[in-house]
Amino acid sequence: MPSSPSKVVVPCVFKVVPARGYELCDNPADYSAEFVLADGRSFFLEFCSAHLPKASGLAENWLEEIFAESGLRITCTQFNEIKTGYVPQSDQLLAKLREPKSQRQYS
Ligand SMILES: [Zn+2]
Repeated sequence: MPSSPSKVVVPCVFKVVPARGYELCDNPADYSAEFVLADGRSFFLEFCSAHLPKASGLAENWLEEIFAESGLRITCTQFNEIKTGYVPQSDQLLAKLREPKSQRQYS
């Protein structure tokens, strides 16, 4: 049995939740994107380098769902390289996105 590395692999957000029209991504995330709103709130999503160009579009798509408000706007986006010890932040947000507004049936 190989010993599993203790390093945390952060999945690309496109693996966690496939956006409409995009395919699932198997790459580990290389970058953490911070999106800052006009009112100062911010959130993070993790992306692999291939999906980095789609970061802003995806974030805008999810804005209203994440904050449950409409008319929000991202005014600033910053990309940071993911380093050892990075704590993934997408999960919390995605948990919110997954909260069923209406009960879905899985079969
Ligand atoms: Zn990706």
